[in-house]
Amino acid sequence: MKIIMLGAPGAGKGTQAKMIADKYQVPHISTGDIFRANIKNGTELGVEAKKYMDQGLLVPDELTVKILLDRVAKDDCVNGYVLDGFPRTIPQAEVLDKALTELGDKIDYAINVDVPDENIIKRMGGRRACLSCGATYHMEHIPPKTEGTCDKCGQELVLRDDDKPETVKNRLDVYHKQTQPLIDFYSDKGVLKTVDGTVDMKEVFAAICAILG
Ligand code: ADP
Ligand code: AMP
Repeated sequence: MKIIMLGAPGAGKGTQAKMIADKYQVPHISTGDIFRANIKNGTELGVEAKKYMDQGLLVPDELTVKILLDRVAKDDCVNGYVLDGFPRTIPQAEVLDKALTELGDKIDYAINVDVPDENIIKRMGGRRACLSCGATYHMEHIPPKTEGTCDKCGQELVLRDDDKPETVKNRLDVYHKQTQPLIDFYSDKGVLKTVDGTVDMKEVFAAICAILG
């Protein structure tokens, strides 16, 4: 099963993608996590990506597409995957579509987690991320057991640089201009499913499971 998560930054794509990956036993692939791991390890890719990420801009397609295509070619992807944060532009979607078509394959579902901008701005200030294992929390809605510490790996939780209010505003502008057109792209392909992302995360997941079966 090949799934794409669509939605604004902070809509809950990562939260849901992790639950889907667990239940359906497919890898969760987040281009944002891949970039953050590269930043943490000080790689050339990380240094380049950080320049864009810190401003709330998208990392150029040339860099992003190659990383994603290499990742989905790995053995653990033979039974599918859930993509979180990719594609984010029409050219990225077209490259993925072409690569899949060449393999006689296709995306099964593009799940749009729908959350209005007002809710997003509130949510992002409360997000806390573990840069070590990629787990995500929310200070109000999904708090860790011990404040400031990751339940899964015990590392420190941080407010991501790009979750600061001024950057969130830029990320939402970028989303509306560059990523939202993907909703029509996947709707035209007949694979778009929209769920209400403003309700409790368990309810969002139940709606997604009803779609995936
Ligand atoms: P995205 O991957 O779309 O950027 P995340 O999954 O990281 O978004 O979620 C953004 C923030 O909102 C996180 O702090 C997360 O814990 C919280 N969150 C996710 N789903 C919900 C929900 N249904 N209700 C309230 N908060 C949520
Ligand atoms: P995320 O963790 O999905 O919120 O992504 C964080 C940041 O990483 C984004 O704001 C972009 O700067 C960058 N990024 C992640 N995925 C992509 C992508 N598919 N295309 C371009 N930039 C991306």
